[in-house]
Amino acid sequence: MRALFARHALLPEGWRRDVVIEWDIHGDLTGVHPDSHPPLNVARADYVLPGMVNLHSHAFQRALGGLTERAGDGPDSFWTWRDLMYRFAASITPEQIEAIAAQLYVECLRHGYTSVCEFHYLQRAPGGQAYARVAETAERVAAGAHEAGMGLSLLPVLYSHAGFGAQPLKPGQERFRTGVDEVLGIVEALAPLRGGQFEAGAAPHSLRAAGIDQIRALAAGLPQARPLHIHIAEQQAEVEQCLAHTGRRPVAYLMDEIAVGARWCLVHATHLVESEVQSLAGSGAVAGLCPTTEANLGDGLFPLEPYLAAGGVFGVGSDSHVSQSPVEELRWLEYGQRLQHQRRNIAVGGAQREVGDFLWQAALRGGAQAAGRRVGALEAGRRADLLVLDGSHPNLDGVLDAEVLGRFLFCGNDNLVRDVLCGGRWVVQGGRHMAQDAIAQRYRQAVKQLREGSQ
Ligand code: ZN
Repeated sequence: MRALFARHALLPEGWRRDVVIEWDIHGDLTGVHPDSHPPLNVARADYVLPGMVNLHSHAFQRALGGLTERAGDGPDSFWTWRDLMYRFAASITPEQIEAIAAQLYVECLRHGYTSVCEFHYLQRAPGGQAYARVAETAERVAAGAHEAGMGLSLLPVLYSHAGFGAQPLKPGQERFRTGVDEVLGIVEALAPLRGGQFEAGAAPHSLRAAGIDQIRALAAGLPQARPLHIHIAEQQAEVEQCLAHTGRRPVAYLMDEIAVGARWCLVHATHLVESEVQSLAGSGAVAGLCPTTEANLGDGLFPLEPYLAAGGVFGVGSDSHVSQSPVEELRWLEYGQRLQHQRRNIAVGGAQREVGDFLWQAALRGGAQAAGRRVGALEAGRRADLLVLDGSHPNLDGVLDAEVLGRFLFCGNDNLVRDVLCGGRWVVQGGRHMAQDAIAQRYRQAVKQLREGSQ
């Protein structure tokens, strides 16, 4: 039976009671009916949420999580972390990419993500030569998502330069090298995979790694409405280099030169001045926020309050995968603002005064837009992506609708996600992913090989 009866379900208009949720064999929701009687022979759940979208991921970096927390001789920074990441990336094989991606996506599903946007820049073989198949590594990431049952927006990356002013790539960057035609070729090669669970867009890596003319050509060459993502202003040094080369700050420069609209996601729009806050919010693009990675790398804090006041759209991503949980991203998004402003309950808007409800719904909206897929809400026509929370957990016992997301996001570290339906398939039941043991076994082998190879 492709249906579920939820005593409490979060719908686009807010929490509703006694909701019958139905989907079809393709994994699309066909009906969402509140105030219904429980049908016979249909499973029941206490609390049901739409699955979250993870709008920014570099899957292979999952294997590095927790390994870069040792202090060096001088001040450590994003740039010293990046050196370590490059060493790891230098030797990774397509098989290892697939094994790591599958493990990551299992973990993401178990914690409540049902879609991922994969910002994929490992395109070439170790040493920098092309694979026989132009989409070799991208297809491996897609295979990992398929094995885990994760919805995927795959974004092959345009990466041509080491820095502003078209600086030549460094040896550690040769595996990332792509031009506009190559990226469009990868997008085309991925076309047969398109469907309910898969979309292909593209991503100029950053203003450092792609020239503005290249970005313009990529946007023009990509089919209409496909997602376009870019790293934009993660580090102060990046802002200073952009100013030195263009006379403008990164967001201002991109907005001036490119018709940035709703298909765009600006990842790590961390360092903004007020005029950029307004122009980004007004463009309809999504701000891609990755609070745990941005904290781990010491990036800085996004100006969330003025951005929300200007009507800006945002979503969250786990980026380097120091966390695989949307709870942690949304919790730290709010906590960063509280610490900065020495106030509480900052992420709210309009009539919505519940921080948890606001964060979950707003991140769904922005995440779905950034994914370019029909996800992010329990309504007919969207993907059947939902989470069943553990109604027997002490944190959720007897709570009111308005309290569910507050408890979920801001209380403790138990994983309250019990079951996960993704694209109409139950991929997690009772906290266990259907293929977690086999996928973890392959992951352990891949990481062992990688660590032995990088010593
Ligand atoms: Zn990134």
